[in-house]
Amino acid sequence: MTRDLKHVLAGLRARDKASVAQVLNWVEDRRFAAQSRVQELLDRLCREHGDGAEDEGLRIGLTGPPGVGKSSLVARLGCAYRQAGRSVAVVAIDPTSVVSGGALLGDRARMEFDPRDRDCFMRSLSTRGHAGGLSYAVHSAVQILASAFDVVLVETTGVGQNETDIIHIADTVVLVVQPGGGDTLQFLKAGVMEIPDLFVVNKADETKLAQRALSDLKSALHTLAAVGSFSGAPPQAISTSARHGDGIEDLMNAISAHREGLGDKGRSHRRQQGDLAWSFSLFLRDFGVFGMNQLGGQEVVKRLLHEGLVRGSSPPAVVDTLGSALLRAIRDPDFQRHRV
Ligand code: GDP
Repeated sequence: MTRDLKHVLAGLRARDKASVAQVLNWVEDRRFAAQSRVQELLDRLCREHGDGAEDEGLRIGLTGPPGVGKSSLVARLGCAYRQAGRSVAVVAIDPTSVVSGGALLGDRARMEFDPRDRDCFMRSLSTRGHAGGLSYAVHSAVQILASAFDVVLVETTGVGQNETDIIHIADTVVLVVQPGGGDTLQFLKAGVMEIPDLFVVNKADETKLAQRALSDLKSALHTLAAVGSFSGAPPQAISTSARHGDGIEDLMNAISAHREGLGDKGRSHRRQQGDLAWSFSLFLRDFGVFGMNQLGGQEVVKRLLHEGLVRGSSPPAVVDTLGSALLRAIRDPDFQRHRV
């Protein structure tokens, strides 16, 4: 490991803002030198933390349509965790920056964190038009931040792919909706009601509408539970007002309850599944369906990736190793007879 990488790693562990920002700059920088630094860092963290269930930060994803109050809620939640003595990192995934060239999600002024507070860090990351949902950068960023902070809050916008991708990143996925938005129906139609671990109706200060939305949501969850849509207990639904700070404690309790229900084993399993999904999409990005078929198809590739991850390599390193094997194999005239 080079000196500057060692230095940055030490800074990351101490939650030094400049070092954390430096690492995330590398994460966003697609050039080879930056990406290999990130890979080295991830490898080191993977070796140290293993599957990371016990000693890594809690990863909480908040998702939902624009305007429902996710940024406001994240700010409240972040402050509440800080007040409880936990260090907090916030990653806001910015789907707009492809067009606006890097505009931050929402109004960051709403984030009332003290800029001098070492134990909180905030950053927007752009998905840069990545067609497959949350970008690779987000996976790396969240993994790196979770090695240094007690809580990592990930805020994403949209319905569809992002909702399904967030499950590969977060231990607990919170879907935020607002009263009168018809969101429940929309999510039912989109078939993503099974993804969130928790439902929040924000803007509960808009009283009547909020009560109605909450009871609609609860009855939709009840119906889904009755037809066996959830493998475990059905997700909780609660209401909050990010504007007035109501329900934040309930939200924290519900997040803790979900985490406890998951257990260390469940959390490790979920992270392994997330890393596998991340590696597989990296593999497809770099080697395509052709590469996959050369190695014997999707199942074989997933098995090989899984084996690499279990050995403690980071997702990018596992893909690199498999890629090298693929290239060697393609050059080997006997390849068709001796598949990797
Ligand atoms: P996001 O796009 O989902 O991140 O939503 P924002 O946090 O940017 O909030 C969108 C708008 O809703 C802003 O004008 C907020 O002030 C407002 N807002 C957020 N939370 C609440 C709430 O609990 N009650 C009310 N009445 N308005 C809220």
